[in-house]
Amino acid sequence: MGFREDKAARTKYFFQYIYGWKLRKCGACNGSGRYDHNGSPPCSACDGTGKESYKPKEKKMSELVEEISRKVHDSWWQENLRQGVLDHPNMIPYDELADNIKEHDRATVRSVLIALNNLRGYNFKI
Ligand SMILES: [Zn+2]
Repeated sequence: MGFREDKAARTKYFFQYIYGWKLRKCGACNGSGRYDHNGSPPCSACDGTGKESYKPKEKKMSELVEEISRKVHDSWWQENLRQGVLDHPNMIPYDELADNIKEHDRATVRSVLIALNNLRGYNFKI
């Protein structure tokens, strides 16, 4: 395998088994690592560690795009102010923008995410 295939395989492994996984108290032994307090064998669900890994449900991509679009709008607003533009009609809070105007910010965010997928091997499902 060449370097690029290696890297692609590592990236795939990372996003499948490492990225986003968290630890929580084992549900079978309630975090004690054993089934009781009388010297029982270690909990087999967690091998006695008292912890289990889980992957929290990811936010919907549409929610993430919306959150980032809000930030994009705010920084666009700030940049306008920095350049001395004070009276643009879209310089109002994101929530008050018409949906077709918000769509400009969403399109920007989607193209950034697509670029990260293509140029840096991320795996955003847009
Ligand atoms: Zn356990």
